Amino acid sequence: MFETILNFLFPPACSVCGKLNQNWLCPTCEKRVERLEKSCLVEVENKKYEKLLYLFQYESLVRKLILRYKFSNKAYLNHFFANQIAQNEKNRELLKEYHMIIPVPMHQKKMQKRGYNQTELVAHELEKSLGIPMKKDILSKVVNTITQSKLGGKARQSNIQHAFFIKNDIEVEDKKIILLDDIYTTGATSEECSRVLKEAGAREILVLVLAKD
Ligand SMILES: [Zn+2]
Repeated sequence: MFETILNFLFPPACSVCGKLNQNWLCPTCEKRVERLEKSCLVEVENKKYEKLLYLFQYESLVRKLILRYKFSNKAYLNHFFANQIAQNEKNRELLKEYHMIIPVPMHQKKMQKRGYNQTELVAHELEKSLGIPMKKDILSKVVNTITQSKLGGKARQSNIQHAFFIKNDIEVEDKKIILLDDIYTTGATSEECSRVLKEAGAREILVLVLAKD
């Protein structure tokens, strides 16, 4: 009911061009965004994770799409992003080497405010299409940090330190893990999540993000 009223007041529109569209992304813009897909794999050094796979560069249309996507519930877009990841054969082969997908958690307070964790929704779609289990009860965010995008490089690191906690060590021991997040900027969040996962015995970590800034 509430959603019906919302849809009446704010009819669903394409997140990129603003034209009315039930899926929050019109077919023309969907094609434009698809053409920007690059699926880039980076082998990293001196980090707590081994690899970084990003789907898009965080710019232009993609930036617009992700920003709008983060702040309203647009199921079609979860599907779109998960599809973009999974329809690439190289990505599929790579991801299937891993035991589980862990979405970067949100603090409970933020979750209550927004009503959903968009990263978890994409992870859920990936679980369905790739058959890799999504585990959302392993990692938990115990400190309600300031939104990272409001901070500079150094401040981001100290802001996020000790914000995550492992609830279940046994499940990650000796496992290859996909850590899923939406945007990668300085990598402070990925590093901190990976640090606690490694301390709990994780064997290898691939950070998968929709876009890299
Ligand atoms: Zn459009």
